[in-house]
Amino acid sequence: SMEEHPQVDLPLPPHVLIFPFQAQGHVNSMLKLAELLCLAGLHVTFLVSEAVHSLLLRHSPAHSRSPGFRFRTISDGIPPEHRRSGTGHLKELLSSLRTTVKPLFREMIVSSNRLSGEDRRPVTCVVADGVLSFVLDLGEELGIPVIYFRTISACAFWSYFCIPKLLEAGELPFQALLYLSDKLSDSILYESGLGNDLDVPIEHVPGMKEFLRRRDFPRIGDWGNPDFQFVLTETLQTPRAQGLILNTFEDLEGPILSHIQTQMPNLYTVGPLHAHLKARLAAKLMSSSSTYSNSFREEDRSCLTWLDTKPARSVLYVSFGSFMVMTRDQLIEFWHGLVNSGKSFLWVTRSDLMDGQDGESPIQTDLLEATKERGYTVGWAPQEEVLAHPSVGGFLTHSGWNSTLESIEAGVQMICWPYFADQQVNSRFVSEVWKIGLDMKDICDRLTVEKMVRDLMEVGENEFAKSANRMAELARNAVSDGGSSYCNLDRLIEDIRSMSL
Ligand code: UDP
Repeated sequence: SMEEHPQVDLPLPPHVLIFPFQAQGHVNSMLKLAELLCLAGLHVTFLVSEAVHSLLLRHSPAHSRSPGFRFRTISDGIPPEHRRSGTGHLKELLSSLRTTVKPLFREMIVSSNRLSGEDRRPVTCVVADGVLSFVLDLGEELGIPVIYFRTISACAFWSYFCIPKLLEAGELPFQALLYLSDKLSDSILYESGLGNDLDVPIEHVPGMKEFLRRRDFPRIGDWGNPDFQFVLTETLQTPRAQGLILNTFEDLEGPILSHIQTQMPNLYTVGPLHAHLKARLAAKLMSSSSTYSNSFREEDRSCLTWLDTKPARSVLYVSFGSFMVMTRDQLIEFWHGLVNSGKSFLWVTRSDLMDGQDGESPIQTDLLEATKERGYTVGWAPQEEVLAHPSVGGFLTHSGWNSTLESIEAGVQMICWPYFADQQVNSRFVSEVWKIGLDMKDICDRLTVEKMVRDLMEVGENEFAKSANRMAELARNAVSDGGSSYCNLDRLIEDIRSMSL
């Protein structure tokens, strides 16, 4: 009858399945994209391993997630007692992808009607980490569109993509490549004399001819190494995806993006994602104050209080990300260099930072004594907040892509000591292209550390600080209303909607 309210069935929104590679940096940035899609009214199922899920539940408040968001878990096949850092962990993750994750994923999608639920449609679109090509296979088989999200920089992606061209031109492989799989073997490299070969330029990566050297080439292992083959094969399959999302912005990597677009015309650069999420939340008058922490580890917030006591731009923040493992010798060199520089520093010394000795404090007592007044260490820091703190004036980093973007957005100049994978090329761009920092590259001795820290932290405006401020402004513009990343995200959401009709 007329009195009854007519039942209007609003169509359910698109349902996006997001599937990251199970490492901190990948999960972190893909969770930010997930929140952004939820803010736009989409439903998101976020797939993580059971191990990662329990770490996130323990350390990052789940109640802060958006209404359209939910987690689903999948086994990663790795025994819980195994160490979750270093290249050993990477190898394990890669091999269990093939043996455990791939069949489980297939089973999950096929048997549960594409993860549909009471109030959600079956998955209408997948956003998969750009190293999981078995998702492309399944998408093609079942008719589900798959968009790729590659969590590295455009410059690293492009240099991987050009490997066949380098092989053809005879620029790859080079002999020293045998040692480049592992940061730990740098000393062997130099003792063998092969280290000198690393200055030879690499000329066949379009857009990088002027400055790319062998030592800047992404380190993913030597030729016969399965990890190398994995990254290469996965990268070359990218054009099979419906589109490619990158966590970067046009003003930062524009020239490289044009090259990528010749292979992947449907490109969405939506970064820096952490700043993008903050900006969109603010536009909706929602706060983002630490509600969106995606840490696998307990954040030690006491360092923010310590920073409060320090003068503006006086502190060097030191962190090597979630994955890197270093030798005791390297750690001791850094420590001496930092102490001798005379500058204040905040150092993230993860319990598993040092090779082989979980949990044990690796630092000599006399060194600890020497740094009490100027140094502060934590096991894990709220990094975005630390970089935004006015007392921080520099960042000694491993050049992981998330850390690099966070530093750029905060306008903090860097000293780079890259470890592996994309980090080698990122650090080259920091020093030679963007000119926002120094690249230590393969060197690790206390004198170099001391000198670089002094150079970077000298009072007064230096060139790096100026360019860093300029780039920070461009980053913030990119994610503001009308900016390039802002418009690209809107386009991505529109495209997901039309794929989901
Ligand atoms: N991070 C953090 N606290 C720390 C160290 C790192 O929150 O003490 C975060 C950092 O903000 C970044 C991520 O961990 O988002 C590390 O990612 P990145 O790509 O820089 O390096 P990876 O860990 O993948 O090597």
